[in-house]
Amino acid sequence: MARQHIPLGSILGIPVGLDYSWFLIFALLTTLLANSYYPAEFPDWTPGVYWAMGAVTALLFFASVLLHELGHSLVALRHRIRVRSITLHIFGGIAEIADEPSSAAVEFFVAIAGPLTSFALAALFYMLQPAFSPVEPLLGLAEYLAYINLSLGLFNLVPGYPLDGGRVLRAVVWAITGNMRRATVVAANVGRGFAFLFIALGAWQVLSGNLGGGLWIAFIGWFLNSEARAELLRTTGR
Ligand SMILES: [Zn+2]
Repeated sequence: MARQHIPLGSILGIPVGLDYSWFLIFALLTTLLANSYYPAEFPDWTPGVYWAMGAVTALLFFASVLLHELGHSLVALRHRIRVRSITLHIFGGIAEIADEPSSAAVEFFVAIAGPLTSFALAALFYMLQPAFSPVEPLLGLAEYLAYINLSLGLFNLVPGYPLDGGRVLRAVVWAITGNMRRATVVAANVGRGFAFLFIALGAWQVLSGNLGGGLWIAFIGWFLNSEARAELLRTTGR
């Protein structure tokens, strides 16, 4: 996931860019919001408003993902760990941290900073709702962003590598055993377990008739498994 096809500039000295796959997820999310989410929540808007709000909401969702990655990056930089790049792609975003953390505590704080940023954003958009309520599209935007940031924070806390919760697990096992390598193997194997659960859940959803959602969950599981496997290979050579 180090590829970065379209540079957007840099924040805090970190190059920020888009992977080509980002355009696919941006189009999908915009369509989903304009065609089903917003029409179900707010039946009286015109088609133009649905599409404009779909695109604006999708853009602000990815701005939220960028802030989540900046949360990780800020804590890393504070501990003098270089951040090579932040890339938005089909599964969200990734901050590429250049060095291994110097201690279990540093690993823990870098990992937890992302979900905490998402929870803070969820709280912010939740608190904005009363002020936005006279204008339906603004209210809808604040409601969706509160919900999606809460979901993003919670999903990332699933305790399996490469998710943030997996890095927290790695920090905890590292602190207990004093062995970073062993901690990595544990977190990556738990991550593979969760990845297979996602694939099974996705397959079950497909069989129960939810083709799109099921394929998406299975696809995420496949991605998490391949990332966890790659980390195991790097750590153990097998
Ligand atoms: Zn994260």
